[in-house]
Amino acid sequence: MFLFKTTPGVQHHIQSIRNPDIPIGFIPTMGALHEGHESLIRHSIESGYYTVVSIYVNPTQFNDAEDLKKYPRPISKDLSYLYKMGCHVVFFPDDREIYSKNNPVVPDIDLRNLNKTLEAAFRPGHFEGVLQVVNRLLDIVRPNILIMGKKDLQQLTIIRHMIEELNLSVQLEGLPISRESDGLARSSRNERLSDENRKKAVVIYKALHATATNFNKSPLSDLKAKALKLMDHLPFQTEYFEFVRNDTMEIIHDKKEYSGPTTAVTAVWCNDVRLIDNMEMPEI
Ligand code: AMP
Repeated sequence: MFLFKTTPGVQHHIQSIRNPDIPIGFIPTMGALHEGHESLIRHSIESGYYTVVSIYVNPTQFNDAEDLKKYPRPISKDLSYLYKMGCHVVFFPDDREIYSKNNPVVPDIDLRNLNKTLEAAFRPGHFEGVLQVVNRLLDIVRPNILIMGKKDLQQLTIIRHMIEELNLSVQLEGLPISRESDGLARSSRNERLSDENRKKAVVIYKALHATATNFNKSPLSDLKAKALKLMDHLPFQTEYFEFVRNDTMEIIHDKKEYSGPTTAVTAVWCNDVRLIDNMEMPEI
């Protein structure tokens, strides 16, 4: 496994191994790796891609300084995890490598509703930061395949939109959510839950699952009310629970408005830990 901390270092290496028969698969992460990340990295390795993982906690996508400060950074553990997985290249830049004088700008694209609702409404500036860093990392690594998780569905949709708008020559693969055995979506933030709250957090999965089970039987407003009733018990507080179109992530309030592929998306606070999850609903 090769480890690079500088942009010229990683660029030079990737240039030297570039081969039309072996696609370069790239998985951007913020580290504190867990089995959710592992599912993306394994997919890349098993697909025969030359696998590049970046570890960079991007300050511009944090709208809360405290959250940035508390973000876990277990770099030695991450590196040995990646080594054991068989990852080919790790890019571990510092802020100067990403945010030097001339770059990077936030790509000037119209995100429409994607940058107004859900995560964007509650985390102002978050997606500008995500676009900025992903665009910069893509420019450095120039992968053939970009691999991201559906755990961050709005992020995935926004990046897909950016690739289309900027006409970038990279293929985006969105992979399913990896879950703990009780159903909780794997996340670096789960580690910040107390043992008791970690056990209780399964309620998020249960609410999404119950919504999917009853999706064809009830109106959206009833499904939403039931989900909120299940989840909203202190210290859990739901920030949003909505139904969205799979393609555009526009919020749907009524099945009469739209009856195509739909996903339920939610964000829930547990004390100072914010958890997000989503689940695709069965076809009507
Ligand atoms: P992060 O390190 O949180 O920025 O995540 C890096 C990538 O891993 C993103 O594309 C996430 O969507 C993805 N990811 C994080 N958790 C999961 C999970 N539980 N299942 C699938 N993908 C995940």
